[in-house]
Amino acid sequence: GLSERLQKVFSTLRGKGKLSEDDVRKVMREVRMALLEADVNFDVVKGFVKQVRERALGAEVMDSLSPSQQVIKIVDDELTKLMGEEAVPLNKAPHIPTIIMMVGLQGAGKTTTAGKLAKYLINNDKARPMFIAGDVYRPAAIEQLKTVAQQVGAPVYEEGTDKDPVEIVKNGLAQAAENKNDYVIIDTAGRLEIDDKLMDELSRIKELAHPNEILFVADSMTGQVAAKVAHGFDEQLDITGVVLTKLDGDTRGGAALSIRSVTGKPIKFIGQGEKLDQLDVFHPDRMANRILGMGDMLTLIEKAQNDYDEKQAKDMAEKIRENSFDFNDFIDQMDQIQKMGPMDELMKMIPGMANNPAMANVNIGEKDIDHLKAIVYSMTPKERENPDLLNPSRRRRIASGSGRSVQEVNRMIKQFKQSRDMMKQMSKGNMSGLDQMMGG
Ligand code: GDP
Ligand code: MG
Repeated sequence: GLSERLQKVFSTLRGKGKLSEDDVRKVMREVRMALLEADVNFDVVKGFVKQVRERALGAEVMDSLSPSQQVIKIVDDELTKLMGEEAVPLNKAPHIPTIIMMVGLQGAGKTTTAGKLAKYLINNDKARPMFIAGDVYRPAAIEQLKTVAQQVGAPVYEEGTDKDPVEIVKNGLAQAAENKNDYVIIDTAGRLEIDDKLMDELSRIKELAHPNEILFVADSMTGQVAAKVAHGFDEQLDITGVVLTKLDGDTRGGAALSIRSVTGKPIKFIGQGEKLDQLDVFHPDRMANRILGMGDMLTLIEKAQNDYDEKQAKDMAEKIRENSFDFNDFIDQMDQIQKMGPMDELMKMIPGMANNPAMANVNIGEKDIDHLKAIVYSMTPKERENPDLLNPSRRRRIASGSGRSVQEVNRMIKQFKQSRDMMKQMSKGNMSGLDQMMGG
């Protein structure tokens, strides 16, 4: 994947002092190839490489970074810029309802994303959304929308398959007004490729509904084709934003990097799985970090915060700073982690884990956490507060008490100390992961 390629390129810089023009040129040639292989649009790559090279060779010098770290930082910055710099929120109408129209090719993920968005709005905005079933060509499409709607607990307005979708949207909006729904999400039909009939239909729906948001849903697995199709839709409909789906399956990252500069329209959300809660706000900086293989530490933190009481988080940060993080806190954390969801998914967001080959076969499940907990519960209160007490004989006692092997106990203590050290480092504001990547 792109991450691995880039990490390999940058590893050749490790330990170098001042970079020569030749070093920079060599690295950028590799970066260029990595991007093209990741299916990033050719013009986008060209502009990107030029920009990075100019900055890398320019006078921009930061004392705190080594020359090689600086190149990485520039690449990171420019990747972020390419994807839009800042997260862009959904548009909201001054008066209800806010109307969101989903558009895109067949199979891109419009219906699924409509459901995810409704769920997101219900959770974050206490919304009362209604769907309009505007895909009247595939009989299964209405059923699919109804299933999704039922899962999120929102109503669907539909008139079956033999009506004009524009008429359906008109009647649906009247219904929403009557029910005082604050959001209306219009699901529309797609085709396998752009054609005039589809564009005409979508234009007519747009004319009638005046949506606050026309979200182009793009399958990220299609790489730069997604950017091209986005451009086509944008020309016809003047889209307001993009949702990139199937990023859980796309290891190349080409669509994410191309689509913003090709259309000039922001990526607002990313879909990372088929489940309805697998929608995330798109943060260009985090995606850049992810592409560079830095792990998506911030997303992890945000995810944690959803389940995490803020005060508790502050206490924890304080403890980490004072280096008094102990096994009791560790257990609290494990409880939090268990609440957050699939462990392997979370682990991949930690810097260095995503591309760690060891992770491929590691599946950290509930059971493993239970084992870790059993080990901690077999410690005395003093041992929990002071991990340095854990000499070999205490470890043997803990092993037999918890029913785990001594090796497992040793491994767990080692991991605990490592993560404590890592957290300590991060609390010093060393979050970028750049230093870690460059070997300290
Ligand atoms: P539509 O034709 O544009 O409405 O697309 P659908 O919503 O029916 O989605 C097509 C397929 O893609 C379905 O099987 C979805 O479950 C799947 N899908 C949609 N979004 C995602 C995603 O973010 N990740 C994954 N893995 N699958 C997705
Ligand atoms: Mg659909």
